[in-house]
Parts: sequence; structure tokens; C-alpha cells
Amino acid sequence: MAAQSNDPVAHANRIWSDTLSLLKHNKTLSARDRGWFEGVYPEAIFGTTIVLCVENTGTRQALENELNQPLLDALHMVTGEEMTPAFKIVKRRSAKSHGSTVKIAKTARSGRSATATIPQRPQTVSELSHEPFGAGGPVPHVPADMPANMPGPIATQNTAPTRPEYPISSNRVAQDPQTHLNKNATFDTFVPGDSNRFARTVALAVAEGSGRDFNPLCIYGGSGLGKTHLLNAIGNYALVKDPTLKVRYVNSEEFTNEFIEALQNPNQSQGQIAEFNRRYREVDVLLIDDIQFLGGKEATLEQFFHTFNALHQANKRIVIASDVAPKNLKGFEARLISRFDSGLTVDVKPPDLETRIAILRMMASTNHSNIPNDVLDLIAERFTENIRELEGALTRVTAVAALSNQPVTRAMAEQTLQDFFTTDVEVKPTDIISQVARYFHLTFEDITGKSRMKNIAIARQVAMYLTREMTSLSLVDIGKVFGGKDHTTVMHACDRISNEMQERQEVYNYVMQLTVRLKQGNSDLRQ
Ligand code: ADP
Ligand code: MG
Repeated sequence: MAAQSNDPVAHANRIWSDTLSLLKHNKTLSARDRGWFEGVYPEAIFGTTIVLCVENTGTRQALENELNQPLLDALHMVTGEEMTPAFKIVKRRSAKSHGSTVKIAKTARSGRSATATIPQRPQTVSELSHEPFGAGGPVPHVPADMPANMPGPIATQNTAPTRPEYPISSNRVAQDPQTHLNKNATFDTFVPGDSNRFARTVALAVAEGSGRDFNPLCIYGGSGLGKTHLLNAIGNYALVKDPTLKVRYVNSEEFTNEFIEALQNPNQSQGQIAEFNRRYREVDVLLIDDIQFLGGKEATLEQFFHTFNALHQANKRIVIASDVAPKNLKGFEARLISRFDSGLTVDVKPPDLETRIAILRMMASTNHSNIPNDVLDLIAERFTENIRELEGALTRVTAVAALSNQPVTRAMAEQTLQDFFTTDVEVKPTDIISQVARYFHLTFEDITGKSRMKNIAIARQVAMYLTREMTSLSLVDIGKVFGGKDHTTVMHACDRISNEMQERQEVYNYVMQLTVRLKQGNSDLRQ
């Protein structure tokens, strides 16, 4: 997995070496195709983004275009994750520039334009310097993370080819295929504070098996406050105590999908449903996340009710996470809510300043990043409501420093965060559509058209969401810009993306990244 490693640079090297072996044995590639990969070498891994150094735009274009899919496939096979390559153009020493800049290059859409060359491992900067990075200058546009499976690579032109001083490998989801647990989310990596101490204590009791009275345990609270982390920590710890246990983590979307799949199987729906029931009713610890999304889904809720009862009667442990207290769940029958209430309900709240600093410190030390205290203070002061955002801010500051070979200082952190979050830039809806289309490798017409293909529909919803956030257009006017869509369609898109951003780190990250791209690249887009 691309998740954790003691040495992220060595980790990147290992991944790249395996990826190259796969590419070398890929029979669908010609010798010439394979030649493009020669001389490409990795620099670091940032979450699911691997930074690859190439010597020239020709190689970068080839890897971004014709060879993009085989590259993504090979990385996926090696890491088990949807990796996104970011390309750094690294040239040999040039007398012209010793700056330390990183700038996103326009995504190249043209075909192969140069033969592959084998770059020497560079010693110093390239001549591709743009505006100086630093106070007042643009912050390099660095992926905090990239969306799983959607956009293609981003390209950076880099003048600082040495290895990053602050390699980071964020707390990525390393999902166990059987239990679906994120192995990185444990009690060890969960920082306690007043806002979550009680929830953590009872979660630990349930995990140890001593909290039998807390059945079910319902954990509720706002987005990004550690509910999913606690659920996973319970599962991981329960398995440490007793490896023979059957533990299953599932979010309500997966539960619904599995149920619908079982129902829809044309051959033997009875058999499929029986299999679905067996799968869920034989578990010892069921961890079900984001239960609020089951609201109103009657058939799924009915099924869940039976699963719940079967497990509860058999004295199996059930832990539920929700964004509201059980009694406030919408679209749930009273009988199910009263079942939830029969156990113990605890909440998680936004962490106080000390806890936020402690969380940042833990995250920085996990990633072997040496971040000065005043920078941690700055981030902790600025991000108060959501630990996911706290983590995202730290990741960005660290990544910017790494890619530009700068030390992390309070001034550069201020600049980085300011550029990511200033809102006073005016953006045109057509800029948003162009940028989103480019990001997802689609056309402007795809975004404004009617196709319901999943990747196009999601990109369109993201574009609608960004238009709502970044312009003053009404829902009706946004509908018009997007090829005459109804305002309810726009509203639905905005709600959906806003929910997804709260629940899924990668969606949050790519919306953030697009926001920054729009703000920073705004002037370019208008040319
Ligand atoms: P929720 O499910 O409540 O939306 P998550 O559990 O997904 O939130 O937490 C968001 C991010 O913050 C995750 O990366 C998680 O590991 C991290 N996190 C949350 N609470 C803590 C904590 N107390 N200590 C360390 N990391 C935390
Ligand atoms: Mg969650």
C-alpha cells in the first residue's frame, strides 16, 4: 500500500521499481512506449500522489496522454490504491535560475512530441523558473491529495530537484479487504481531548469486550471529528484482543449497495439475499458508519432492522456512527430509533485548541515532518471545527515546503493557507467549467451536456457546486450556464458535493484543489 512507510522516499522508490517492472512486462506496450518510462524516477509520495521526475515536456506529455492509463493501472496494481502521478520537470543545472519554485504546468493535451531521454539524477535547479515563491509570490500548486480514480496527472515544473525536506505520507486509508477496516485508524493514533474523551473511553471498552452494556454504541457528531476513526479503532483493537473475531466495518452506502446488488441479481435473488444475510449476521462486531444516509431508504432499513435484531439478540457488538443523535435521525422508523437508544449514545465535539495542536503534532511526527511550533499554532488557530480540515492544511503546508525545498516557516504557512482560502477572487462560470473539464479529462461540452455517465455526471456536479460557491449566480442562472438544467438539479448537485466533501477526504481534497487552481490560475484562464 502507498500508505505508511518509515522512509517515504525509499517507499516511493520501491513502488516505482515494482511499477516499472510491471510496465516492462506489459505486452500491450511497444518497445518505444516502454522507452518513455526509462529515466523517470520518483521523488516522494504524498498521500496517493506520487511525484515523478521527468526531464522534459515530451516525456511528461507522453506519460500524461497515451501512456497515462497503463501507468495508472500499473500503479494501482502495485499499491492497491488509485494513485495519481504528478510530474516534475527536472533539468540539469542551468546558470539562469537558482530560484526555488514549483508551478503547475498547463495540462498538456497534445500527443507525443519528443523522444524519450534518460535524465541524469539532477543536482540542481532548472531554468524553468516562474514567479518567485515566497512572501507575496504565488504559492506552488501542490496536490494535498488527488481524487481517487478521476483526474489524470498534474504536472509541475520544478526548479528544485533535491529530495523533499518534509516528505509526507498522510494517514491514508489502508483498507483491509476482509474487514474493510482502515488499519491506520487505531486508538494509538487517536488523540484524546475533552471533546472526545468519553467517546474514546467507551469505544475502548466496547473494543475490549468489557462494554457489553453499551450495545449498540452510537457515536454522533459533526463531520471530521473522528467518528469513522473511532469505529475503525474499535474494530482494529477488537481484532488485536481476539484475532478470531469476525469484524466488519461498513458505511451505509456500501450496505445499501450490497443489499441492492443482492436484490437485483436476476438468477437467484433469494440465494443472494440469503448470502447477504449470512455475511452480516455472522459477524461478531458490526461497525456501521454514517447511518444517517439510510434515512428514507425503506427496504434497506427494513433489512438493516432484521440484521440489527439478529446481532443484538445474539449479543454481538454493534457500533453506529451518525452525524446527529439517534433521536434526530430523519427517515427512520421509531422502532429502529428506540433500538439505537437502548444502548449508549455518546458524542464527539470540535476539539479545543490544545487538542488541535496535539493532533497536528501527532500527524506531523507520524509523517516524520519537523514542523515548528508556531506553524502548528497557526494551523490550529485557523481550523477550529473539523479535524479533516486541520489535517488537510498541515498536508498542504508540508507539501508546498517539500516541493519547493523551503523550510516550513510561519510566513510560508501563512502565505500557503491564505492562497488556498482567500475568497475575494472573481471567477467566471465558464472558467470553472473549463477548469473542471480539464481536471477530469473531459470537454466543456461534456460538462454542459446531458450525458449521465458516472464520471461526467460527477464532474458536472462538482462544477455546479464550485459555481455556486465561487460566483454570485442564482441556482436558476447556474442551470442556464450548464446547458439549461433545472434549478433543482443544481441544488441537488450542490447538496451532494457538499455532503461528499464532508464524508470523503478525497472529494474534499479535489474540490479544494480545484478551488485553488481556479483562484490561482484565474488570470491564465482568461487569456
Ligand atoms: P468523521 O467520521 O467524524 O467525519 P473522521 O473519523 O473521518 O471524521 O476524521 C477525520 C480525520 O481526522 C481522519 O483523518 C481522522 O484520522 C482524523 N482524526 C479525527 N479525530 C482525531 C483524533 N482525535 N486524533 C487524531 N486524528 C483524528
Ligand atoms: Mg466519517
